[in-house]
Amino acid sequence: MGIIFIAAVIVPSILLAVLSIRSAGREEAWMEKQMSATLDAEVTHTAGLAGAEVGRVIDDLRSGLDVPPGSDYGRILARWKTATSLVAVPFMLSPRYGILWPPSDARAGAEEKRFLSENGAFLSDRTATTVLQNIAVKYQNEILADASLAKSKAARRSESVGAEAPAQPENAAPVAPAESESAALPAATVPEARQMAIDAFAQSPSIQTRVYEEAREKGDQLNARVVEPMAMASAGQSSEAASAGAMTAALKDEAAKSPPAAKPVPAAKKSAAPAKEPPSQFVVTSQLLSQIASQGDSGLIPRFIGEKLVFLFWERQKDGRIAGCEISAGAFRGRIAGVLTSTWSPVRVLTLLDENGAPLATPPDTTGRDWRRPFVAREIGEALPRWEAAAYLTRPDSIAAQARSSSLVIWIMVMILFVSVAGGGTMVLSTVYGESRLAQQKATFVTNVSHELKTPLTSISLFVDLLRRKGHLPQTKKDQYLSLMASETERLTRLINNVLDFSRDREARRYSMRRVDASDVAGQIVESQRVRLESRGFQLSLELAALEAPVRADPEALKQVLLNLLSNAEKYSAEGKEIVLAVARDSQSVTITVRDRGIGIPEKDRERVFREFYRVDDSLSSGVQGTGLGLTIARRIARDHGGDVTCAPRDGGGTDFIVRLPAADMEEAPA
Ligand code: ADP
Repeated sequence: MGIIFIAAVIVPSILLAVLSIRSAGREEAWMEKQMSATLDAEVTHTAGLAGAEVGRVIDDLRSGLDVPPGSDYGRILARWKTATSLVAVPFMLSPRYGILWPPSDARAGAEEKRFLSENGAFLSDRTATTVLQNIAVKYQNEILADASLAKSKAARRSESVGAEAPAQPENAAPVAPAESESAALPAATVPEARQMAIDAFAQSPSIQTRVYEEAREKGDQLNARVVEPMAMASAGQSSEAASAGAMTAALKDEAAKSPPAAKPVPAAKKSAAPAKEPPSQFVVTSQLLSQIASQGDSGLIPRFIGEKLVFLFWERQKDGRIAGCEISAGAFRGRIAGVLTSTWSPVRVLTLLDENGAPLATPPDTTGRDWRRPFVAREIGEALPRWEAAAYLTRPDSIAAQARSSSLVIWIMVMILFVSVAGGGTMVLSTVYGESRLAQQKATFVTNVSHELKTPLTSISLFVDLLRRKGHLPQTKKDQYLSLMASETERLTRLINNVLDFSRDREARRYSMRRVDASDVAGQIVESQRVRLESRGFQLSLELAALEAPVRADPEALKQVLLNLLSNAEKYSAEGKEIVLAVARDSQSVTITVRDRGIGIPEKDRERVFREFYRVDDSLSSGVQGTGLGLTIARRIARDHGGDVTCAPRDGGGTDFIVRLPAADMEEAPA
């Protein structure tokens, strides 16, 4: 039974508890993952908005600039600068990249001189500038081949994976205008194929791993990210993508020393350091202005001048000349920062970071924040190299606190589970154990009763037989036989009475109560048993402490109680054959004590002996027959009379059974 209980209840409960505790341990990681997925979607959206805003900036600059052939471009450019706050230093190039404006002679102001010294070589097509390229676009053919190979598989997977991992942000998001990228991208590609490659790359960690691997083999240089997102490597990205980040892990250190776009780190560089942040999605290449300009009519060229990023706008005029400007950093940042609508919420802080990891807009309540350690972040795209959309937890410890409280709840539940399983289990087991013990006792009871019935019947029929066959027996012998037969009959009667009493519905027993003197009843019992007991070597005496001990009782029932106790005193006496019936009284109660010098009752059994069927030694080999009902019935009768039966060890050995009944009024007349 215990084993079944352990197998069916305890083992599953322990398993359940272990699982719950393990999940409690993972609570923080799970919550972090949820939070990361939510914030990732928001950051992706913001990155898309920023990319789109770049397109609008280009549109605004284009609409304000018109240099008809043969016009005085110096004046037109000066007017353009005054009219458009975005224009910092306008320039004009001949179709063959000769710098027409600003003039390099004495007419040039300090600003123009600085501009020319920084950009002159590039604008005259002599030096190349670094340009970012989306790795998914660079390896577009490989990605599409990969994706179509696993087409059916990918079709199924894209739904589930796509739901969890939002598309990587990049400038070619549907809202981003083609112009903004055309400036920084190599040979134009079919837009749908491009987008398909970008999507396939974003959705498949295995494609990401392969592409990064290939980039590493080819010696590609990945853009260096300015941030170390905390959640993305562990939760937002797949483990494969995160492992691909290993190759850029060393990037950070070098990035800190020099502008990465100017001196990028080869993607092939292997690092033993564990990856923390996901790798950049952009490969760094370098292009001459003529290469960039061959890809479209206008665009925006981000250029690193030392640590600083400057943005050059250009537009090819009808006559082949190129007009453009260096964009005013302040106005440009203001425009891009304008896409941020809500930077602060109780849950997260959202902002855009520039190439140095500084926020474009500083949300309130963010003093002392490490902007380079966002919770999640996304690169904005080719037009804004190293710029990131980044989200931070408003209270970084809130996830841990929430996880702590929910794992506390799980622990409490596990405790409750244990207490209830242990408590309930103990109750069930003890009930079952009690039931089975009772069933066993009942079975023994049946054996005992039949044995008890048979023994007196056998001796009665033996004596009847003797008397019948030996008619000439002396009178003393006859008397002896008859008294033995009478005592066996009495024993039978008592046994049958006990069994009947026990099986009778307790409420159904009717007592004919009247005022009796307990001393009288005790005296009658002593007299009726004296001959028999003395013939068996017992010394029986009656001790009366008071002249009268009145009680209200059914005399027959009271006799049954005393006979049961006396019979036990006889049965459980070995050597010491001395029995005393003592009657005493005080103002409240009357006690009749049956004292023997028998085998005694161990302390642990002194209460149990009153339970039905309970016997201290139930083996037939104990030599004493019994049903385990005598004391049960004696106590039941005493309690029905408002009293009780208890037992105690007798001084000098043996047992005292004490029947205590409420004393009746002395003045009350006998009924
Ligand atoms: P039984 O028919 O077994 O005597 P009882 O209910 O009268 O049933 O007694 C229950 C058990 O209490 C006995 O089996 C015996 O072990 C113990 N007992 C009762 N009276 C005495 C006594 N006077 N001395 C020692 N043990 C006793």
